[in-house]
Amino acid sequence: MAAPERFRIIGAMREELRDFVAGLGAPAYRADQILRWVYAAGAPSFEAMTNLPKALRETLAERATLYTTAVAETRRSSDGTAKLLVALADGAAVEAVIIPEDDRRTACISTQVGCAIGCVFCASGIGGLVRDLSAGEIVEEVLQARRSLGEGEALTHLVVMGIGEPLMNYEALVRALRILTAPWGLALGPRRITVSTVGLPATIRRLAGEGLGVNLAVSLHAADDFTRERLVPHARPLGEVVAAARDYLHRTGREVTFECVLVKGVNDSVEDARGLADLVGREAILVNLLPVNPVPGLGWQAPSAARVERFVRELRGRGVRVQVRRRRGADIAGACGQLRRHRCGH
Ligand code: SF4
Repeated sequence: MAAPERFRIIGAMREELRDFVAGLGAPAYRADQILRWVYAAGAPSFEAMTNLPKALRETLAERATLYTTAVAETRRSSDGTAKLLVALADGAAVEAVIIPEDDRRTACISTQVGCAIGCVFCASGIGGLVRDLSAGEIVEEVLQARRSLGEGEALTHLVVMGIGEPLMNYEALVRALRILTAPWGLALGPRRITVSTVGLPATIRRLAGEGLGVNLAVSLHAADDFTRERLVPHARPLGEVVAAARDYLHRTGREVTFECVLVKGVNDSVEDARGLADLVGREAILVNLLPVNPVPGLGWQAPSAARVERFVRELRGRGVRVQVRRRRGADIAGACGQLRRHRCGH
């Protein structure tokens, strides 16, 4: 007879853990103690949960699982960016990145192994989607990122911009966000979390109704549908995407940004900038520009600094709020060996 499946602590909601603990004959407050050990204290094992009775710790070790992932490799850039290769239990791997900036420590995490979208400039989509991450695996990425911080450092922000399209792994994403923001969980402020999507209008509207209060980044990449489809195969029409993003802004009151990866000769002309200004208008939504990170073999190049500057001037001249995102960890991106490719921005 197959052994009963172990209960996975990381990824469980508080009520589920309470039910599990009750099933072991322990009082409900033991569940809260376990949660404090996992999320507040960062305990690496049941053995470390020293205010639990020894017998309960032993039962937990037999019947439950804490971490199912491990950091297989860490690369640190000269600018302080750290890339973690997070190995999953089935042998697959994803990448999490920690970006330091002044007092901020931002973790950028993945939601899928591979990606079904297949943006032409992105290496993550080359092999298609392998599988979704579970909510527990997504939460573990954040915990692993936090564990890799130095003495006195604290994780302050989270961006869901790693490998995968988060809104195509919706149930796991929402559950993970509830755990990450819960007072009994990681207690991250929702205003410090940004979910990045390539733009799935119906799912953006659904997310607006979840009451999560997280920020949203929507990748447009172009001012017209023809150019956008060159970059993002089967992309939804821009009009629908922008309308859904505005709806998210108005219903949640949270920050929404439009993202645009600039590719030399494709979407970086003054006409493209004018079209983008017409599309996004003069409202409060910030436009983030990110010169493409060239992937060997794909053939796409970043525009020159002068061309990016011209693009920015055109947008600003038309009243659009715009900033150019700095590429972080550039010196380890090309040398990441077995680290999976990661772009921090769709
Ligand atoms: S940029 Fe994002 S949505 Fe596009 S293929 Fe890469 S991971 Fe997928």
